[in-house]
Amino acid sequence: MSSFSNSSMASVDEGRYCRCGNEALLKTSWTQLNPGRRFFTCRISKKMGGCDYFLWYEDRHSPQANRVMWGLLKKVNAFDEKLKRARNIFIIGVVAAGLLMFGIWKLKPNC
Ligand SMILES: [Zn+2]
Repeated sequence: MSSFSNSSMASVDEGRYCRCGNEALLKTSWTQLNPGRRFFTCRISKKMGGCDYFLWYEDRHSPQANRVMWGLLKKVNAFDEKLKRARNIFIIGVVAAGLLMFGIWKLKPNC
């Protein structure tokens, strides 16, 4: 029971230590989904026998920033969809215009 209370005492720094008991490394993510987001990871690489520890590090401001980022990403995706639709309409337009031109050319009497 005493060990349990000891571990709950350490919860303030939870996340800072990986499962090996080493101080975790704070890295910055540069993936598309989580740009600039920081996370804790094991300082020993997995190949060297590290524990493959992973935990997001939340700044006080980051949840808000992430929400803004997600909003932007959603907008970008919506814009992309619109762009795709516009491109499809453009292609249909070009094909239709081409057919129309071909029809006019066919209808023209030969000189
Ligand atoms: Zn570790």
